[in-house]
Amino acid sequence: MQEARDVFPTSFLLDDQQRRLILSWSDGHEGIYSWERLRRACPCAICAGEGGAPGRLQRRQHLTTEETTLVNLEPVGRYGLTPIWEDGHRTGIFTFEKLRQLCECPQCRASDK
Ligand SMILES: [Zn+2]
Ligand SMILES: [Zn+2]
Repeated sequence: MQEARDVFPTSFLLDDQQRRLILSWSDGHEGIYSWERLRRACPCAICAGEGGAPGRLQRRQHLTTEETTLVNLEPVGRYGLTPIWEDGHRTGIFTFEKLRQLCECPQCRASDK
């Protein structure tokens, strides 16, 4: 996958009040991600499934507070971030590209990605 733009997150903020992540990007963009939506988008094999098998989260209507509480973000190489969740889950790697696609800020929602 070629990176169309050389953008990367420069800092992040965990908004406990609204349970969302604010991610600042090198191009000045400020991304918004609700924790629950981010957890549901977890691309790891456990959450998202593997080889056609449904993942753990796909079968569930409701997630626990622990599962959807973001406690930290750790960088993965130069291409992604791993969210650390309160339930101890930390195997999902979100590439920068995916994070840009998931952005929920009014600007991104208006342009529909
Ligand atoms: Zn996962
Ligand atoms: Zn955005």
